[in-house]
Order: sequence, then structure tokens, then C-alpha cells
Amino acid sequence: MATEIRRRRRRRGLGTRDWGLGGLEKKGLNPQSPDTGSEAMVVVMEERASEAQIEQVVKRLVEMGMDVHRSTGVTRTVLGAVGSGHPDAGLIEMLDGVHEVLRITSPYKLASRTFKQEPTVITVGDVRIGGDEVIVMAGPCSAESEPQVRAAAAAVRRAGAKVFRGGAFKPRSSPYTFQGLGEEGLRMLRDAARAENLVLVTEVMDLSQIELIEQYADIFQVGARNMQNFTLLRELGHTRKPVLLKRGISATIEEWLLSAEYVLSGGNGDVILCERGIRTFETATRNTFDISAIPVVKKLSHLPIIADPSHGAGRRDMVAPMARAAVAAGADGLIIEVHCDPDHALSDGAQSMFPSQFDRLMAELRIIAPAIGRSICLEPVARRGWGA
Ligand code: PEP
Ligand code: MN
Repeated sequence: MATEIRRRRRRRGLGTRDWGLGGLEKKGLNPQSPDTGSEAMVVVMEERASEAQIEQVVKRLVEMGMDVHRSTGVTRTVLGAVGSGHPDAGLIEMLDGVHEVLRITSPYKLASRTFKQEPTVITVGDVRIGGDEVIVMAGPCSAESEPQVRAAAAAVRRAGAKVFRGGAFKPRSSPYTFQGLGEEGLRMLRDAARAENLVLVTEVMDLSQIELIEQYADIFQVGARNMQNFTLLRELGHTRKPVLLKRGISATIEEWLLSAEYVLSGGNGDVILCERGIRTFETATRNTFDISAIPVVKKLSHLPIIADPSHGAGRRDMVAPMARAAVAAGADGLIIEVHCDPDHALSDGAQSMFPSQFDRLMAELRIIAPAIGRSICLEPVARRGWGA
């Protein structure tokens, strides 16, 4: 497999790593294990910890590349460890006399705000994701037929979407449901996107599909079920196209950012995060759409974050309120399922909006976005006026 990957990379002309993060190599950083600043942790010893136990902890921390600052109180000793090493909190916690280990620095580095303060803006053609403009991606869940794909692309473009979405390889819960049209679907999606002057995002499910999908798509989508497919993420780190990384169905935000780190550390700095709802105890909606993830990610990371209220809600009547809330919460964009005949869609029909609903939503977003200092596509207004 390793040879096969190398062969594919050579064919794509990627013999050497290409950094998208503003020249990591120029900064003298090692892509495999980037020295992105110092690590910090605090080790709280037990009240009755002996001097020998304290010394053993200090010794292990020093071996792990840390400088240790000791603070000896009346009842407890606290050790502050800082340095450029890679301390293993789990191992320290196992040592005799240790009460608690508090990690101060995050385990992800390249994805963090500490590493890069200013927001990352990803440019695809004339679309900028992560800038002032709220970018709307829309289209069917799956490519089903030429007319279906064409009609959806025209409808979303008319309403002001800038990116066309649609799947040709579908990760379905059941192997007996529609699995996508494969390359034929990719061709339909590409043709429709080209005809409407839209950027195309489509899902890559497997390592073996990268080379094919790269020929058709502008942005790779990694679905929720693949968020921790580390082999796929690593390989996408070697491509030169942006990666839209959906949050896993039961992933914490930290796990999600660590998955982004796989792509970033491979050399591809263009990762767009996408909140699409998580699995909780609630059954009223398909997933629980975690709007709080938007401000949390904004605080922790410089990467753009968009929201997928279609998979978040699972019902088309709930998509618009969730979409409005996501934009109000600071999302850099949305990805929404739209179908001209959703009641006969081959996948996710219940959550796919009619074009008229999508059109109305876009009109509402044109009011919400400026209220929070963002812009959004005004082209339909220029064509039809504000009343449209
Ligand atoms: C999709 O976008 O159609 C899809 C399958 O998404 P997710 O991976 O979020 O379920
Ligand atoms: Mn879908």
C-alpha cells in the first residue's frame, strides 16, 4: 500500500511536501513533528508524596524534554513543566505519588490559534472561504441523473450559492440503499458546476478514490463516518485541493481538530471544518446540531468552520432555522441539501429543501449576515431586487 501511495503521489507531481500554511519549512519546522512552541503541563503531587516520588516525576519530565519548576507547599508539591518536549500525561499520571496531571497546551498544534493567530482564508477560484463573506454551498445529497443535477445546480446558483455540493460515492448506513453513481456521477456534477460557474465539493470515501475525484472536484469532502480514517486524512494532506472535514458522529471538538491536524501535518493547509450534528440521547431530530461548536472552534482554531444544518436537523422544515442560527453564531458558510423533487430523491430526501425554500432562506441570510458584520452573495438582489 505504501508503494502504491508513493506511486500515486509521484503521478500527481508531489514528490516533495508542499506547505500551505505560510511556509512551515521556511520557519524551520519539521512537518512530521512540528515544533510549534512549547508544551506545558502541571503535575499535582499527592499530599503524602515522598521526596523520592517527587524526584522520580521530575526525572521523567526532564527525560521527556521538559524544564521543571517546583513549588513546594505546606502539604503538597506542584510541578510546572514547560519545554519543547512531548510529555506523555498518561505516563506521568501513572507514577507513584501523582495526584493529577493538568494539560495546559492542546495536543493539536498546526490547527490551533496559538500556532496561527489570524484566520485562514481558503481561496478556490474566486470564492474565499473564511473571509468576510458567508459562503453557501448547496446541491443534492447525491447525483442521481443528468437533469436532476443540472436543475439543482441552476436553482442554487440562482439563489446565490457559490459552491455546488453533491455526492457520487455515498456512505450509506445500509448497503442495500443507493450507493451513488461513481464516476458517472462525478462527471454530471462537474458539468453542472461548470455550466453554472460554481465551485464543486464532493465526498471522497476511500484512499483509492482520491486520484479520480481530484480530476473532477475543487474541494474534497471527508464525511462524518471518515473523520478518523487517518490513512485517508494523511493522503489528503499530500494533495493540493482543500479538504472539507465533517465532524464525526460522536467526535469531540478536540478529536475533530486532531483529525484536521492529520491533513495539515501532511502539508495541506486548506482545511474547512464542518459541524453536521452529533449523536446524543435526543431522538426528536436526526442528529443534535451543535451550534456551540462554531464559537468554540473559532476560539481554538484559525481554520474556517461551516455548518451543515441539513444533516444536523434531518428534516427540511428545520433546516432554515438551524441555518439562520449557524450564520448568526459566526459560521463562515453553510452546506445545504437542495433537490428539485426531494420527495423522490434517492438519498436524504426528507432533509432536502425545495428550491423555493432555499431561495427564501438565502433572502433571510442576506439580512442576518450584515447584522453581524459579514457579507453574503447579493447577486440575486442585483437581478431581482430586495423584494425577491
Ligand atoms: C452528505 O453530505 O451527504 C453526507 C453523507 O454527510 P455526513 O458525512 O455529514 O453524514
Ligand atoms: Mn446527505
